Amino acid sequence: MEVIMAKYGEIALKGLNRSNFEDLLVKNIKRRLKAVGDFEITRRQSTVYIKPLSENADIDEALKKVSRVFGIAAVQKSLVLPKDMDEIIKQGIPYLKDELEKAKSYKVEAKRSDKSFPLTSPQIQQALGDAITDAFPDLPVDVHEPDMTVLVEIRDKGAYVNARKIPAVGGMPVGSNGNGLVLLSGGIDSPVAAYMMAKRGLKVDAVHFQSPPYTSERALLKVESLCEKLTEYCGDIRFYCVPFTEIQEALRDNCDGDYFTVIMRRLMLKIANTLCDKGSYGALITGESVGQVASQTLAAINCTDRAAEYPVLRPLVGMDKKEIVEIARKIDTFETSILPYEDCCTVFTPKHPRTKPRVKDVIAEEEKFDFAPLIEKAINGITITDFKIGGERRVVEK
Ligand code: ATP
Ligand code: MG
Repeated sequence: MEVIMAKYGEIALKGLNRSNFEDLLVKNIKRRLKAVGDFEITRRQSTVYIKPLSENADIDEALKKVSRVFGIAAVQKSLVLPKDMDEIIKQGIPYLKDELEKAKSYKVEAKRSDKSFPLTSPQIQQALGDAITDAFPDLPVDVHEPDMTVLVEIRDKGAYVNARKIPAVGGMPVGSNGNGLVLLSGGIDSPVAAYMMAKRGLKVDAVHFQSPPYTSERALLKVESLCEKLTEYCGDIRFYCVPFTEIQEALRDNCDGDYFTVIMRRLMLKIANTLCDKGSYGALITGESVGQVASQTLAAINCTDRAAEYPVLRPLVGMDKKEIVEIARKIDTFETSILPYEDCCTVFTPKHPRTKPRVKDVIAEEEKFDFAPLIEKAINGITITDFKIGGERRVVEK
């Protein structure tokens, strides 16, 4: 029988509270596999075992899904055998045949956590290695840089033989480090920022500011589609859509255009503060990266931050665009992000924004108009949609 073995990442380093992390990880895997078929999911010895229970359980699809669950560092398909060296050789070699035929060199690595097994790890390696060399006389052994490593693990409940360990996403289980609220635009950066904080164990929800008719319905659909794609890694996402048009118009009509972007960002944060209060989010997340655009200079970030009542996490802060794009491609948000629909940020933006705004000037400019009633109106006009793993979406009634 074939099973998936999913190996822990950082959780393995945890101390006393480790089982909480493990339980959460198993729960997250179960939710992720619900739509893939019936599996028995258990954990032992820093590994989650995923065993197909019926014909409809697609093990390759499950392997792909599990490799995207944060907290898992590597996945592999393994053949489960009785703890008997003759059986390991007899059944293991045919199981590995296709891989061995393709390999240029190999080695056998044995791990014996069940010390009652009669052979030591080197003896297991020797016995299986000899049998493989008999069956594939032209395949050289290379213990330093093998093209393929055959791994035999003698564990509590059986012997596990596998050929290929596939790197997974790593990180910490989603939900193990609290909740965060990402400011999600339709751009390349903020979905990557959401992914990176979910990777650190945050359960991430999203807020988007839209300005119809300046921004189109298609721009909103694009952000929703990004949410949907993110669920593949982040799990369920609650999506708040804030009507932002009136605030932007008031800002345009009442404040110096040079400060437009930085004040707009501050107003976004003020609305996000309220969502944090109501929804118990412990931090805000943005896709900003130092120096990328005028609103992301240190001076501008300073002005923005002072409107925030929660820590603003900027996981991309030290990354180059190229590095960000690489991740966006990997998580399949890039092609959606580059669809050319306008964002509310591009509406009314000045030609020459201040790159070194001073906090007191920004606040003085912002105070020329009383935004509080419009902020409250925008908050009351928020629509909420829950995006679920597997593509389902549900509009939340107020
Ligand atoms: P992105 O690629 O994420 O759009 P960007 O490089 O275009 O980022 P800006 O447009 O300056 O940068 O936006 C900086 C950050 O502000 C974004 O990463 C995002 O977190 C937030 N943001 C911008 N516009 C919106 C919006 N309409 N709704 C929600 N958040 C937004
Ligand atoms: Mg943008």
